[in-house]
Amino acid sequence: MTRWEDPSALNRMPTGRADDALAALWHKAIVVEVDADGAIASTSGRPRPLASPGERQPSDILLGTVDGVAWFARTVDTVAGEAMSWRDTDPDALDPLAAGVALARWHGGQPPCEVCGSATRPDLAGARRICLGCGQLQFPRIDPCVIVAITDPDDRLLLARQAQWAPKRVSVIAGFIEAGESAEQAVHRETFEEVGVRLSSLTYVSSQPWPMPRSLMLGFEARSVNGEMTVDGDEIVEGAYYTRSDLVAAVGSGEVILPAGASIARALIQRWLSPR
Ligand SMILES: [Zn+2]
Repeated sequence: MTRWEDPSALNRMPTGRADDALAALWHKAIVVEVDADGAIASTSGRPRPLASPGERQPSDILLGTVDGVAWFARTVDTVAGEAMSWRDTDPDALDPLAAGVALARWHGGQPPCEVCGSATRPDLAGARRICLGCGQLQFPRIDPCVIVAITDPDDRLLLARQAQWAPKRVSVIAGFIEAGESAEQAVHRETFEEVGVRLSSLTYVSSQPWPMPRSLMLGFEARSVNGEMTVDGDEIVEGAYYTRSDLVAAVGSGEVILPAGASIARALIQRWLSPR
């Protein structure tokens, strides 16, 4: 469905993070500034590497190599000049920048040690943090979420609007997996809580990182047992089933606005719109 199903272009270098290896990579590295909000320094919609990054800083984060060239993120408070979202970049820069945003935000938060509460510092060029008090290692956390394209027995797609979204913006149902819950259970629970729909034939489709700040979206498709829907009025304020021609017409007239092109939400909608 998406390029996220293919092997990553980014070699994350589980080994080879020793100082001499990093020094060899540094002199021709691509170093891109990323700020605390996940904005990336850019020029005309492309990442803008630092022309003179100078010496490697202890806080510079090695993201990995693409075709033998290392990518580093340099965290800054606020990117000066033009900035972009990781979602809007070229496919060849997408993997390093998704990692860059996730890691820059994690390190930027300077999480204290989970064991003793002491301060931590980056280690292994940003692959992990180490506690200054007890030496405990800390790794980035990922929050799994589910997202599901639901069709009714007539193959109409359920799209709904969350309360905090702008008018006309709609998407498929999504939510966080709770502690002790499977991904499939989360799909059933979120769907029933938000729109009162029971599901059958739940199928996993694909996943996508969403480092805002640290989600992993697990995409599913499902069939509703019947076409009935009851929006909860809290998280979800409106929802409807669309036929393909209704949705194309509604998008064309501006009646509804779909999620951005790079999102798994959009990919699930496109997959239903244009079945193979
Ligand atoms: Zn500690």
